[in-house]
Amino acid sequence: MIWGLSYNQFMEFEAVIGLEIHAQISTKSKMFCRCDNDSWEKEPNIHTCPVCMGFPGQLPVTNEEAVKKGVVAALALDCEIPEYCKFDRKNYFYPDSPKGYQISQFDEPLSQNGKIEFDMGDRKVKVGITRLHLEDDAGKLTHVRNGSLVDFNRAGTPLMEIVSEPDMHSGDEAEAYAREIQKVLRYVGSSEADMEKGMMRFDASVSIRPKGETNLNHRAEIKNLNSFRSLNSAINYEIGRQTELWEVGSPLDGPSTIGWNDEKGETYFMRKKEESDDYRYFPEPDIPPLYIDKKLVEGLKTHIPEMPGVKKKRYMEEMGLIEDDARILSGDIRLAQYFEEVVVATSDSKKAVSFINTVLMKHLKEELINIDDQKVTAGMMSELIKLINSGEISNNLAKGEVFEEMYKTGKDPKEIVEEKGLKQVSDSGAIEVACKKVIEENPGPVEDYKNGKDKAIGFLIGMVMKEMKGQANPQMVDEMMRKML
Ligand SMILES: [Zn+2]
Repeated sequence: MIWGLSYNQFMEFEAVIGLEIHAQISTKSKMFCRCDNDSWEKEPNIHTCPVCMGFPGQLPVTNEEAVKKGVVAALALDCEIPEYCKFDRKNYFYPDSPKGYQISQFDEPLSQNGKIEFDMGDRKVKVGITRLHLEDDAGKLTHVRNGSLVDFNRAGTPLMEIVSEPDMHSGDEAEAYAREIQKVLRYVGSSEADMEKGMMRFDASVSIRPKGETNLNHRAEIKNLNSFRSLNSAINYEIGRQTELWEVGSPLDGPSTIGWNDEKGETYFMRKKEESDDYRYFPEPDIPPLYIDKKLVEGLKTHIPEMPGVKKKRYMEEMGLIEDDARILSGDIRLAQYFEEVVVATSDSKKAVSFINTVLMKHLKEELINIDDQKVTAGMMSELIKLINSGEISNNLAKGEVFEEMYKTGKDPKEIVEEKGLKQVSDSGAIEVACKKVIEENPGPVEDYKNGKDKAIGFLIGMVMKEMKGQANPQMVDEMMRKML
């Protein structure tokens, strides 16, 4: 110590972050019973039965669909799938858990040793996936003034828990990782991962070490973060807090479980962290171990689509898209499928990008809807682009009047063009007449052009387009105008 300061104040620190992601598996029924798995905005406690309510003597039966979707997600995250895995009881009391234990997987999980890679700006980040295992969810508590209400609709919902290696070092990295996982789960159809509906939640473990060291120090686990924003903010807050503790020479003296107060923007202490011993795990006696056939795994592998990162790279390398466009289009599998359909039909990736990423996307963003919830199908979009490419309508009319009408009514673009009489005029006679008129009426700009002001021709062409209500073939107008001048 010098003058009461710790040497640590002169050291540089690095944060070490690992995430546990819980994602609800998209199945019709719950993990071990036939109750409806959709509890969103339902009347409380209507999707319950003796199994998910933990009545004595009931026998849970494993949901095959949930296992398959878990395997698919694990494969997409490059995990190994052992032939054998089992379920275990994780014992703890909590009022929203009617069984008094959670059915999870302890030492023999569904999958392990995976990894995921993604871009952050121009940097590649690789995060190891320790394991992806299956478990069931608890119910939901709502705290009211005089007590707490419990809703068991969600109790027994199938979950995947995806545990990462402590490979991240900032809130931004953790957020980018979580967003990538969300994309992958949606791509393979294993989870809708809708944060608003609580289908994806995070626990983030944060610890600090002097830069250059490789050991792991005591961590604080921030529980139950339910948005990307709170994940990022909570981690950054916790990095700041623990760094200060290091600087004054009193880092965490044991693992702890903490919470995040979104309003205050602070973490708060909940309890000393429980270790696995505290849960008295033991093999679930009512559920036989799972034997996962290699053939089944091979079969499921064939259903895994091209992953978002690979797709993005292909869009850039093979189709010449700029990174921003490629990232947006590959970010959602439905959008990517739509885009690819239009490209196949039109062989015009440039127009496909421009119509989807700017024209259509503007509406989707304004209305906060996704591509499946609007009327312009990929087929209609392709037709529209073909009408431009065959010279039947101008690009401007297609992007403006025709598209707007398609979007509003779901009508075929050809029909709209005919109904509204928007067909592009490629008749050189009509174009010549209009050019002549514009030249006569605008002697100033004509003079300017002749004196070498090349810009003036743009104005004249614009006047011709206006004269012909935007329906003239712009290339022909350009040629005609230059010829006549
Ligand atoms: Zn049930």
